[in-house]
Amino acid sequence: YEVFLRKGRIIATLRNAIVNHYDGFEVYYQPIVDCQSEQIIGAEALMRFSMITEEGREFVSPMEFIPLLEETGLIIPAGRYILNEAAAMCCEMQKYIPDFRMNVNVSYVQILQGNVERDILDAIQKYSLQPECLCVEMTESGFMDMTPSFCKFRKTLDKNGIPFVIDDFGTGYSSLNHIREMPLDVIKIDRCFIEHLGEDDFSNAFVRMVSELANAINVRVCVEGVETKRQRDIVKKMGIRMIQGFFYGKPMKIEEFEKKYLI
Ligand code: C2E
Ligand code: CA
Ligand code: CA
Repeated sequence: YEVFLRKGRIIATLRNAIVNHYDGFEVYYQPIVDCQSEQIIGAEALMRFSMITEEGREFVSPMEFIPLLEETGLIIPAGRYILNEAAAMCCEMQKYIPDFRMNVNVSYVQILQGNVERDILDAIQKYSLQPECLCVEMTESGFMDMTPSFCKFRKTLDKNGIPFVIDDFGTGYSSLNHIREMPLDVIKIDRCFIEHLGEDDFSNAFVRMVSELANAINVRVCVEGVETKRQRDIVKKMGIRMIQGFFYGKPMKIEEFEKKYLI
């Protein structure tokens, strides 16, 4: 019953926040680094939400509030908000790092119920971005069955030169089939394979295999969840370039991000 009440309370607060100029929503940015050159090349935009409770401000975990946004369809306006913030941030960063790329997460609900392609194209136009600088991340579970709406979405991205990133790669059960069937720009290997890198043979072999496969079909690889120097060194040795993880930086507020990378 407590869980039920909490869910209702969070949904009401999310709804309120959206009509109140997205008060309580924030975007954090996590750096994506080229580990061969040690240069920052982009960031992933990650949604944050906090609400006022009797004990003060409470940050709600994305694992808790994102499913509620999806369930209620509120992910459509919230996703649009993140997209605009992220596009603005990308435009700002490009003044200093011309090829800076911004990754944004898109959930399947936005494709099914909303017109997220329109939102993406509008954001690109509004901030005069090159389409290849705004990358769309989706997890496999979102498009497993290749529905007509997903195919239409995919076609629009392709036609406009917007990169598509397959997120949490390796956690869906038909991963390999997807990279065969669909045009892809980046494969993001899930952090569960990085956690035991250098410790267990399966993780090592998996990351190496995906990286070789990706090379062969001209797809780039990004690894997530690199926390230690040891993990970074192993990934680097495999010839992988893009790394996202606490080793290089945690998700942070825009001010902190700019302070860290622009000075
Ligand atoms: P994700 O897209 O896989 O995002 C990466 C998550 O991994 C982030 O969690 C990030 O904080 C975490 N992470 C990055 N590096 C490390 C590391 O080295 N170690 C560890 N332990 N964790 C690391 P976060 O921000 O809690 O987001 C959770 C999920 O919520 C995201 O997973 C994504 O699926 C979803 N999400 C976040 N923002 C949005 C959004 O704007 N739209 C949609 N649809 N989903 C979002
Ligand atoms: Ca992601
Ligand atoms: Ca991921």
